[in-house]
Amino acid sequence: MILAVASGKGGTGKTLVATNMASVAGEVQLVDCDAEEPNVHLFIKPIETEGVIPVTLSLPQIDEGKCTHCGRCAEACEYHALMVLGQQVLLFEELCHGCGACSFVCPEGAISERPKEIGRVEVGKRGSLRLIQGVLHVGEPMPSPVIRKAKALIDPSLMAILDAPPGTSCPVVETVKGADFCCLVTEPTPFGLYDLTLAVGMVKKLGIKMGVVLNRADVGDQGVREYLQGEEIPLLAEIPFDPRISEVCSRGGLVVEELPHYRGLFSSILLKVKELSSGG
Ligand code: SF4
Ligand code: SF4
Repeated sequence: MILAVASGKGGTGKTLVATNMASVAGEVQLVDCDAEEPNVHLFIKPIETEGVIPVTLSLPQIDEGKCTHCGRCAEACEYHALMVLGQQVLLFEELCHGCGACSFVCPEGAISERPKEIGRVEVGKRGSLRLIQGVLHVGEPMPSPVIRKAKALIDPSLMAILDAPPGTSCPVVETVKGADFCCLVTEPTPFGLYDLTLAVGMVKKLGIKMGVVLNRADVGDQGVREYLQGEEIPLLAEIPFDPRISEVCSRGGLVVEELPHYRGLFSSILLKVKELSSGG
């Protein structure tokens, strides 16, 4: 089973939910898909390293000796990464998705591919928890290939919990698509509600079952609860506003270890997710 944990915006407690659920889940894989700012390792602190896998894109390389400057490659490029200017073919590397369409259409066979490393995936273990972490190199604009690689390393025989990047943009879609269930984390405030509605729209479009965890549930208003009732989206759990939780998180601690009376709460989220994703 693949469970994605997402939120419409940052700072709602998404990583709190993902890391603590993983810590009570037994044998499980936790995948940090926030490749631009991975932080799950700060909480999980893996003690065994399984490996580091580079992530590369195949960028086109033009053989000027063969190129006739016909412009077919630039026409074929959906991402506007190529431009033919007179006797020159210009590549805008930061726009290139490495899709290979340009080399496919080149009638002269003038385009070969060269790998460019854009990030890496680190795999480690802590007890029965396997951590897979995508890391995008600084300055690289495209986290999605790193996320795809991290997800490709999931062992399908074990449960996987994906910690998505914040927001609802392409890297979040890349993370959530293909999941069996999406757990959305939000807060009971007008901002939380607004961002939740965007996230719900995204998950609906992907056709994935979902539920919501309300963090800092005893502050704010009733707007999120009323919205969930209206949309018939299950409320999986309410995490109270407890300064001890913030204190543990700020030190990179796990709430289920340092405040063990919360173990039941995170276990109950997992149980509900399993029931709902199997149609119960
Ligand atoms: S399609 Fe091939 S020959 Fe035509 S401009 Fe591009 S690289 Fe040159
Ligand atoms: S590999 Fe794809 S994205 Fe990159 S330049 Fe070629 S067609 Fe464009």
